[in-house]
Amino acid sequence: MKAAYYGGAETITIGESSAAAPGAGEVRIRVSHCGICGTDLHIFHGKMDHRVRLPQVIGHEMSGTIEALGEGVDGWSAGDRVTVRPLDPCGECPACKAGHTHICMKLKFIGIDTPGAMQGLWTVPAHTLHRLPDALSFEQGALIEPLAVACHDVRLSELAPGEFAVVQGGGPIGLLIALVARAAGGRVLISELNPFRLKLARELGFEAVDPRETDLVACVNERTGGAGADVVFEVSGVAAAAEMMTKLPRTRGRIVVVAIYSQPAPVHLFQFFWRELKLIGARVYEAQDFEKAITLAAEGTLPLERVVTRVLPLEELTEGFREMERGGEAMKILMRCSE
Ligand SMILES: [Zn+2]
Ligand SMILES: [Zn+2]
Repeated sequence: MKAAYYGGAETITIGESSAAAPGAGEVRIRVSHCGICGTDLHIFHGKMDHRVRLPQVIGHEMSGTIEALGEGVDGWSAGDRVTVRPLDPCGECPACKAGHTHICMKLKFIGIDTPGAMQGLWTVPAHTLHRLPDALSFEQGALIEPLAVACHDVRLSELAPGEFAVVQGGGPIGLLIALVARAAGGRVLISELNPFRLKLARELGFEAVDPRETDLVACVNERTGGAGADVVFEVSGVAAAAEMMTKLPRTRGRIVVVAIYSQPAPVHLFQFFWRELKLIGARVYEAQDFEKAITLAAEGTLPLERVVTRVLPLEELTEGFREMERGGEAMKILMRCSE
């Protein structure tokens, strides 16, 4: 079985999967597909070398089949189709004790802090497993992790049916948030710069605008009778959007920050006072978000296949990263990991 090893900035080498025998409480999975995440691209660019141990297999948006079980693993059998919730919390810190294990203060993210899924065989703790129903293909299964991010974001937003939401940033996560918000009965407007992503969002039935061409504030006010948006999802991570996000909500509207800002960005805090806005941070997902994502995907009403723009063999992982860098026509790129 092959494995794609990250060996430092811009370097991927293809080698053999180490295929460690699963220890107690672990399973070994034959990985079918693994999606490339924005975080993986960040690692590829050498921006996270303080967290990875070189050379290391990365990747965490996967689907596959259980191939071997370690001691003490109950409720699972070889042949079960699964995806992995790639979080390994410590279980003992104040965050874990408060029940917030997904934002554990010593959280290990599997595929960054420990070996990832861009390989034919992958060994992980069994507590990370979620079952994939037969209704889902392995390609769809590899989208459950990013879809669970979207489910978490929409859940924390408390979006109610009929409410109006703006999604700033129409990449894979933004588009999935839009789809989940719409499935929850929300009305959704997407703000995005990339023409391909705008077009795709429109083809999926969303109103999508380029904020350089359309006055976003006027547009939202027009759609909401002058009230403003009930919810703004900030997914883009750019300073202009951090500035824009406080201009869009209604009084007591909610802003959910999903984007990872590596640098502080100016935010108009006066608006939080003046309009009694709420700011909500949303990071990764909890078990219930994975279950929700699996249920939603299995219903078959989300056009998930449109989110995947390319499927490549594992050997072409570097090309996958290059295509993401070019940005142009890429949404989610999946790697086939066990051929
Ligand atoms: Zn991801
Ligand atoms: Zn913890």
